[in-house]
Amino acid sequence: MNAAHLEKLNDRQRSAVEHGVGLPNGAIGGPLLIIAGAGSGKTNTLAHRVAHLIINGADPRRILLMTFSRRAAAEMGRRVERICAQVLAGKAGIMADALAWAGTFHGIGARLLREYAGEIGIDPDFTIHDREDSADLMNLVRHELGFSKTEGRFPTKGTCLAIYSRAVNSEQPLDEVLRAFFPWCAAWDKQLRELFSTYVEAKQAQNVLDYDDLLLYWAQMMGDAVLAEEVGERFDHVLVDEYQDTNRLQASILTALKPGGRGLTVVGDDAQSIYSFRAATVRNILDFPNEFSPAADIITLDRNYRSTQPILAAANGVIDLARERFTKNLWTERESAERPRLVTVRDEASQANYIIDQVLENRESGTLLKQQAVLFRTSHHSGPLEVELTRRNIPFVKYGGLKFLDSAHVKDILAVLRFAQNPRDRVAGFRLMQLLPGVGPQTASRALDAMAADPEPLTALCAMPAPPRSGDDWTFFVDMLQGLRSRGAGWPAEIGEARNWYEPHLLRIHEDAEVRKADLLQLEQIAAGYSSRERFLTELTLDPPDATSDQSGVPLLDEDYLILSTIHSAKGQEWKSVFVLNCVDGCIPSDLGVGSTSEIEEERRLLYVAMTRAKDSLHLITPQRFFTHGQNAQGDRHVYASRTRFIPATLLQFFECSAWPAATASAAGQRDARQIRIDVGARMRGMWR
Ligand code: ATP
Ligand code: MG
Repeated sequence: MNAAHLEKLNDRQRSAVEHGVGLPNGAIGGPLLIIAGAGSGKTNTLAHRVAHLIINGADPRRILLMTFSRRAAAEMGRRVERICAQVLAGKAGIMADALAWAGTFHGIGARLLREYAGEIGIDPDFTIHDREDSADLMNLVRHELGFSKTEGRFPTKGTCLAIYSRAVNSEQPLDEVLRAFFPWCAAWDKQLRELFSTYVEAKQAQNVLDYDDLLLYWAQMMGDAVLAEEVGERFDHVLVDEYQDTNRLQASILTALKPGGRGLTVVGDDAQSIYSFRAATVRNILDFPNEFSPAADIITLDRNYRSTQPILAAANGVIDLARERFTKNLWTERESAERPRLVTVRDEASQANYIIDQVLENRESGTLLKQQAVLFRTSHHSGPLEVELTRRNIPFVKYGGLKFLDSAHVKDILAVLRFAQNPRDRVAGFRLMQLLPGVGPQTASRALDAMAADPEPLTALCAMPAPPRSGDDWTFFVDMLQGLRSRGAGWPAEIGEARNWYEPHLLRIHEDAEVRKADLLQLEQIAAGYSSRERFLTELTLDPPDATSDQSGVPLLDEDYLILSTIHSAKGQEWKSVFVLNCVDGCIPSDLGVGSTSEIEEERRLLYVAMTRAKDSLHLITPQRFFTHGQNAQGDRHVYASRTRFIPATLLQFFECSAWPAATASAAGQRDARQIRIDVGARMRGMWR
């Protein structure tokens, strides 16, 4: 056997790749956990393992590979293919169906649920609600139950959804979730229970699933012994990357798929667990050896191949101060004289200018924009930088921001497709009907009620008399839906039909209709990349394309562009040069949480994740003041900032500290000091109110 693909791996990586391969009679190996620090080659090893399995005869269609994002799954697929092509040159066709089952937990869940819909009593035409749709439906139910009018402040739709989601994903009782994470909502326990059970009924009546349902229904399905066995037997190998960020439901799905752990490989880093706000729990990875005891093998990796020694030393310094001990001590052979830089700037405008200067300088010396990334805690932190990049005509792509799909006109067209797919989807129907002149919320509600009461909702809609004053518009709407429902035009031409119907409304509603029309053409282009309406709606809802600087939503594939990303979305990736915005208290750690120790510790790991993305150069930037967006009682305002507590004075030795621009920093400091006094005065006056 040609083993060229194994040559570049170190011994431990190699034993992880070869674990349980080549057993007598084609037997499948036992459970394997690879737990290792950032940049130690976990993902790379996983890709080699998948390739190695295929090279040794595993059927790629019987491999289930789950990653954290669709982008990561696609990247993994490409790597596997490259490795296999090298080794299997000449044996064409072996990769024809390469990794048909690579994706996210949610995406794979959606596929299986459609396939097994008949067996578990759901309609395969279900549509999927994104977080915003879910919040809208939660709000509708909240109003119907009269809770929005109750005395005292009933939790907002967003909070209700967060509580619901947390309880579902952590498999914890509601009262425990409230006590631990939403203590200020504990008094509403009874109402919340009623709200959630009505919300669940509404989803079922409307044949919609939300994100959480994709896991919940999948886990429920696996609770049936026959189905669990059937689904489990479809896959010889199940491999999961970033296992530290999975939740209880996901772990229970894995156990049900592979009860003894045979064929199961999970990979992760406990020091990088950053999704507990979505009920992810680091216990999954820590408990893996017990769960599959005594069969589980554990492999750790400790050599970092990504970052230079000074970057690694600084990142290790940050994580060493964590309350929990992460025992992995990473080392690297990548020497460098350049320490990471800790740069103080005046405000967010200077921060943007500093970064752009550096980025352009790097480009001059040969580092493409694509090899540089700016990372931030929260999506809106990049606002001032985006403005400046746009002004200076520097192209960028933003991960983790969804501007394009959030715009009203794009949502309208998606609602058309969803409503055609599933005429019980009330959020979609409600949105569309109100586009018609003469149709208000009450008329729409009545029409949707009548549809809901009929086993054939679309037939019921056709039979309805057009509401007064809406005449032809109503008829056109119904005709268009019928056309889509019967799939006359086929995919993706049907998007054109939806757009033709929508355009007169677009012209009537929006002043900038021309720009929006261009967006819809872009949407058609994106749609052409998907094989069917179901696939398009599912994948777009679960993992939308990244927003770009031209706002079109179409990644600028051939051009060079700077990467902007939330730290959460930067997981698993690496760039030559990394800039971390707003390394100040209030941003990292964020001041949005309740400030419990575990939340603060998670923010520390977040900074660790950000720092370990850098290969050659790392800049942490601390503006002396920054802008907050109305999250706290004082609303939008500038606040004065101090360096993040995760880099105390004892760690400064790991950094090159400087102020930018050098000449004005102290003058700026004095100005700021004067303004701070004004701020204190306002507080004093407040005491007497
Ligand atoms: P993270 O924790 O951030 O997800 P990781 O452990 O998954 O990191 P990878 O992304 O797989 O690490 O690898 C980090 C870098 O190290 C990549 O550029 C990869 O190509 C490189 N690398 C991994 N193993 C080796 C090796 N044996 N020889 C040379 N380079 C390697
Ligand atoms: Mg990785």
